[in-house]
Amino acid sequence: MSWAQELESIITTATAAIKAAGSTSELEEIKVEYLGRKGALTTLLKNVGSLTAEERPQAGQSANAVKKEIEAGLSERAAALESTELDQQLLEGSVDTSLPGRRPSVGGKHILNQITDEILEIFLGLGYKVAEGPEVEVDWYNFEALNMPPEHPARSLQDTLYVGDENQAVLRTHTSPVQVRVMEKERPPVYIVAPGRVFRRDVVDPTHSPMFHQIEGFAVDKDVNFGHLIGTLETFIHTMFGKDRKVRLRPHFFPYTEPSAEVDVSCIVCGGKGCRVCSHTGWLEILGCGMIDPNVFKNVDYDPEEYSGFAFGMGVERIAMLKYGINDIRLFFENDMRFLGQYT
Ligand SMILES: [Zn+2]
Repeated sequence: MSWAQELESIITTATAAIKAAGSTSELEEIKVEYLGRKGALTTLLKNVGSLTAEERPQAGQSANAVKKEIEAGLSERAAALESTELDQQLLEGSVDTSLPGRRPSVGGKHILNQITDEILEIFLGLGYKVAEGPEVEVDWYNFEALNMPPEHPARSLQDTLYVGDENQAVLRTHTSPVQVRVMEKERPPVYIVAPGRVFRRDVVDPTHSPMFHQIEGFAVDKDVNFGHLIGTLETFIHTMFGKDRKVRLRPHFFPYTEPSAEVDVSCIVCGGKGCRVCSHTGWLEILGCGMIDPNVFKNVDYDPEEYSGFAFGMGVERIAMLKYGINDIRLFFENDMRFLGQYT
């Protein structure tokens, strides 16, 4: 094949290939095949030395013309293919407006915050105020001022998480320190509810968590008696769980109240007949309470002869579990939306 014939063959096959190309990436391959460093046209141009001196200028011009023609063909086809490919992409990515929309997920209050609000609301209605305290407490507020000096046996009952080496600070084991903090600053009458997180060195099982929520309540005034405490708790329990709930007090011991009691409510599930939830007793324990110990009053400079008061404390998780029949405390903290979503 003469040089001219080879050039002719290149332009013919290249033009046909360009026309047949179905994508811009195929065009790239064609470009390499003909114009690349080892491409057909490049190879032919390298052989220009085999021609006579008279033939060379003409051959060079022809080869350049062919190169330009192939380049023009490539860019024209590329433009056409790009626009087709764009159309295709738009088609594939288009929105089918006949489909139903996706519902945006709306946030909601965590069930424990709802229960906390509900409890606080009841006490606000009774004239109480809300107070809060720090989660890292000093020994005085968490133990000592609450009638639990270092040698007090009750301290060993509280599995405490200490902060630092000196054991001076603790993660509060209950919300009762708020009682002391408020009484130090305010003179009676005080009617306070104090919600917050508390911490204990506990194993994690269906009924225990090293962090949980408590609400402490207390009232100090002139002539406050045990009857006022019972009346207050009954009002709370009937508002929270329904008017037909029975309330029972059992004597108990707490270092910071005297006398002390644990409070049961008739089983929410069986109504008192006895079932698995209430261990066939008909009763469920919901909180602890008592008359504030005179020693606590002395620690905050209240005169126990002049004032008396009661205090009570409840676990928010426990109230939520009883109200909604939830049997595992871990569900509150696992953040599984299948669980939490049922209560928002
Ligand atoms: Zn029951």
